[in-house]
Amino acid sequence: MEQPVLQVRDLRFSYDGKGQALGGVSLDIRAGERIAVLGPNGAGKSTFFLCLNGVLTPGSGEILLDGKPVGKKERKRLCERVGIVFQNADDQIIASTVAAEVSFGPMNLRLPKEEVVRRVDHALDYMDLQAFRARPPHELSGGEKKRVTIADILAMESEVILFDEPAASLDPMGEERLEAVLGRLSDEGRTLVISTHDMDFAFRWATRAVVFAGGQVIADGAPDAVFRDAETLRRAHLKPPALLEVFDMLRARGLVPADAVCPRTAAGLEALLDSGRA
Ligand code: ADP
Repeated sequence: MEQPVLQVRDLRFSYDGKGQALGGVSLDIRAGERIAVLGPNGAGKSTFFLCLNGVLTPGSGEILLDGKPVGKKERKRLCERVGIVFQNADDQIIASTVAAEVSFGPMNLRLPKEEVVRRVDHALDYMDLQAFRARPPHELSGGEKKRVTIADILAMESEVILFDEPAASLDPMGEERLEAVLGRLSDEGRTLVISTHDMDFAFRWATRAVVFAGGQVIADGAPDAVFRDAETLRRAHLKPPALLEVFDMLRARGLVPADAVCPRTAAGLEALLDSGRA
């Protein structure tokens, strides 16, 4: 089986030396996966992301990159390969113009100037931000700031990107735009890990669902299996995705074949109902 990009072994982290924000998390992440991380507030999702990206140093446990353990002094390797888009854009943005902001990461990598310029241009094009390049980021709307923080990470060319509740501050159009970017990044082969409370999005988008509760992973698997597990949903205070609920109701009434797999979208369900198989 293919070597995972990232392996996490029994990761523990405490902010105050008493309570455990992470109480022994183990997980493998493979190239090209689209992972939705779910769970209530305080479950440890952000802490997990910050450990994966090297911002926080775990109290114990191990992180392996391409099968090799990352030592305490090699955290830089992690932050080069694993980018994080913070939940709150203001926690991430530091520079006084959009172009300076997006060039900050590649400049820190000490890349040649032409390479920095190329990466910044590409990231600004990708996030449709060229018109904003000279603007101060703090003057932008929530959705525009979010695009800047994604451009930051694109300019780092990180192969794994962690998004901490990326849709939290977005309006429906911003969410649609974000989902299009996520689709494009995934099609290009990036590995994406996204924490979200939006079960419908997670069901539609993810190839794998990981559920956190109380600093631990309580479920990890295919979204339809995880989201049908009543005990997992109860422990993490999650509601099943609407489409899956409707599909299961139809199936219980014999209106879709017993062996059919729940489609990811309403249009997919409509096609299944129209296909005559139903
Ligand atoms: P989630 O992202 O799932 O909402 P967090 O990782 O933010 O969860 O939080 C996990 C636990 O760690 C919670 O109990 C939270 O109160 C605590 N915590 C998070 N950040 C800090 C911090 N900077 N200082 C102290 N405790 C924190």
